[in-house]
Amino acid sequence: MKKIVVLGSTGSIGTQTLDVVRNNADMEIVALAAGSNIALLEKQIREFKPRMVCVWDEKKAKELKIAVADCQVTVTSGMEGLLSLSVMEEADVVVTAIVGMIGIQPTIAAIKAGKDIALANKETLVTAGHIIMPLAKEYNVKILPVDSEHSAIFQALNGENYERISRILLTASGGPFRGFSKEQLANVTLEDALKHPNWSMGQKITIDSASMVNKGLEVMEAKWLFGVDFDQIEVVIQPKSVIHSMVEYVDGGVIAQLGTPDMKLPIQYALTYPDRRPLPGDRLDFKTLSQISFETPDYETFRGLALAYEVGRMGGSMPTVFNAANERAVAKFLARKIDFLTIYELIEESVQAHHKIENPTVEEILAIEQETYDRIEAKLGDC
Ligand code: NAD
Ligand code: MG
Repeated sequence: MKKIVVLGSTGSIGTQTLDVVRNNADMEIVALAAGSNIALLEKQIREFKPRMVCVWDEKKAKELKIAVADCQVTVTSGMEGLLSLSVMEEADVVVTAIVGMIGIQPTIAAIKAGKDIALANKETLVTAGHIIMPLAKEYNVKILPVDSEHSAIFQALNGENYERISRILLTASGGPFRGFSKEQLANVTLEDALKHPNWSMGQKITIDSASMVNKGLEVMEAKWLFGVDFDQIEVVIQPKSVIHSMVEYVDGGVIAQLGTPDMKLPIQYALTYPDRRPLPGDRLDFKTLSQISFETPDYETFRGLALAYEVGRMGGSMPTVFNAANERAVAKFLARKIDFLTIYELIEESVQAHHKIENPTVEEILAIEQETYDRIEAKLGDC
């Protein structure tokens, strides 16, 4: 029996993880964590019978406790709750499906407790990859990618020597604004940005996909996961998301992973690795798939992607500033307080204002996150 903790169980990745568990009789949920959606969490508790749950919001946690008084479940809240779920004695693997840097401390705690990590929460690696990857090695735990591109790369690397990687070809759909000019981008609305052509995901990552900041975060995620340099990671636009990413080896051979866009495959693969299991769903039909097309990204218009390479190469605390500024800017865009291109401006200004720290500790990362948030709040006033 594989015993699973899901952090972020009410979200896009979280609910799809529970779909996978529903279809695999030898998987069991031992704990679930959510932000505030206690109505859905209660349903999940009644179906999956976890021993422990965490609700970030303390008031909501109290409400949930009353609602599930008839269930054998311990209800916790806040960071303390997240940490206690991450180190549960009976857990084998922690699925990190929460959004943002809030995932850093639970991920570290889980690694130190010897749990494998099925990692969706890319922001954790972007900001603290220099801490997490060596720690995973030290504690001999696996970091199993859930992000579709990184799962594709991981699959293409199966059985290969990582030192023989020549390039990683990270595919991107280009999002809803592919081909747009800067002038067009200046006028897009929140509704436009939330319409991803191929994937249905949580709001933050959907906006990140529209700005291509998501691809920038994924470049940094790939660097940490696969131990390559930034020069070895190339973003390739493949509008229909048929190829989920590719690895080119030193002999020129390219291995790609293809499939329909369905996150359940990478989620399930992370939970059954190195095995593969049947998974119901659509299949690629090569008789009707007349072509797979490719484009080069427009780094000038989609400035967030170029900036991600820049801060990634600078390293240290710079990716934290990039990520924190983006998190706050996206929240403001989702609240209709700023327009789309201001996301890039806020990131760029925050990066320029920051003095790099070489190897930031977790405490420093969290302090820099807060400083970046405060800077943006101060700049935007009460907007
Ligand atoms: P989402 O917004 O749909 O879900 C987020 C989940 O985290 C929810 O259950 C929410 O309640 C929970 N949560 C948020 N803050 C919390 C907190 N402080 N404490 C406890 N729980 C909290 O997000 P998502 O789209 O599922 O994305 C999750 C992560 O996976 C992100 O890092 C994203 O970049 C990554 N990812 C998502 C997809 C996708 O298809 N959705 C693909 C690749 C990577
Ligand atoms: Mg992805």
